[in-house]
Amino acid sequence: MSKRPWGYQPLPNRPDPDWSLHPDTHAVRTGLARSGFGETSEALYLTSGFTYASAEQAVESFTDETDHFVYGRFANPTIAMFEQRLAAIEGAEFCVATGSGMSAMFASIACLVKAGDRVVASASMFSSCYVILMEILPKWGVTTELVAGNNPEDWAKALSQPTAAVFIETPSNPMLDIVDIAMVSELAHRVGATVIVDNVMASPILQKPLQHGADVVMYSATKHIDGQGRVLAGAILGSFSYIHEYLNPFIRHTGPSLSPFNAWVLVKSLETIGMRVERMSSSAQRIAEFLEARPEIKEVRYPGLPSHHDYAIAQKQMTGGGSTIGIEFNNDQSGVFAFMNALRVIDISNNLGDSKSLITHPASTTHRRLLPEIQAEMGITQSVLRLSVGLEHPSDLLHDIERALK
Ligand SMILES: *Cc1c(COP(=O)(O)O)cnc(C)c1O
Repeated sequence: MSKRPWGYQPLPNRPDPDWSLHPDTHAVRTGLARSGFGETSEALYLTSGFTYASAEQAVESFTDETDHFVYGRFANPTIAMFEQRLAAIEGAEFCVATGSGMSAMFASIACLVKAGDRVVASASMFSSCYVILMEILPKWGVTTELVAGNNPEDWAKALSQPTAAVFIETPSNPMLDIVDIAMVSELAHRVGATVIVDNVMASPILQKPLQHGADVVMYSATKHIDGQGRVLAGAILGSFSYIHEYLNPFIRHTGPSLSPFNAWVLVKSLETIGMRVERMSSSAQRIAEFLEARPEIKEVRYPGLPSHHDYAIAQKQMTGGGSTIGIEFNNDQSGVFAFMNALRVIDISNNLGDSKSLITHPASTTHRRLLPEIQAEMGITQSVLRLSVGLEHPSDLLHDIERALK
């Protein structure tokens, strides 16, 4: 019996992923652990606990001497299949799944910091991430400095003193600001900081932050990973040492665990994530180009458009513009509400990354929690909408938008 490293996700009889395979192949094959029945599809192990053949086996399992599962808060076979599959797609050593994207974001940072520590973050981010960094962690003596934009001098200034963690969301939600992952990672590593990237908007298909120097990637798997509007989930990916030394001791005792049922939904979702994200991204590119030529629109923010202020960086680190478009109208709130209400195919919803195209007014919904001046810094005005492009035929989406603009 081999000694299992703390945090290793045991899958009986499964070797490490074959790293020569394409992510699309990992998405269908990697992590699959068949039971003795030889089922084709991944099994759902809906159990909170596990039994032991003997008292001795229980002792060995608790001291991590075997890869026997112990308790649902630590690991579960179906969750382990999801974690191994996502790790293989991402090209990460380890993955830990959580119950939501926010629990993943919180755990990824909270496991690293202590009172007196400092975090540096890119200013444009999802509002709950902002609340964790600017309202919750300060109560525990952890402060965050925000850096706006992509100016290497601003980043170098913020990263000129000891820093525990750097948190960047790129592209950002909802205004699709881009942060240069390689540039920030290099500066961060000089002061010993761990670089965490919220990669929700790009998904593991369009951007691999670890390849650009980041240390940790986190997801809301609620978005493109499920991508069909069914479950809440999150994931954190990184090196063995980060997971082993910091994350797992934190996660195992604080318990933001994923349900095995939701993990089963996600392991099947991963089989189609490549085709879904590529289709959504190519439709979004067409729609962004269409919108940019319309007189009703003041600005279209989309990483796949050469007019994006950080297009060159997006080209360097992303393989597609993604499924989300930030749209600023030449109109006030009542004008943009009229546009939303006139849509017939696209739904009004605050979610994103779904198979259904969804439109959001961030200032009054997802980002309303932020002060007006913070919204303004992030470019969120009353005239801004966020469009998440889904899997409908792009011609139907273009017709819907054209009709509503009229
Ligand atoms: C949705 C989202 C989150 C939070 O994920 P939940 O699954 O809703 O908890 C975090 N970051 C970004 C960029 C998001 O879009």
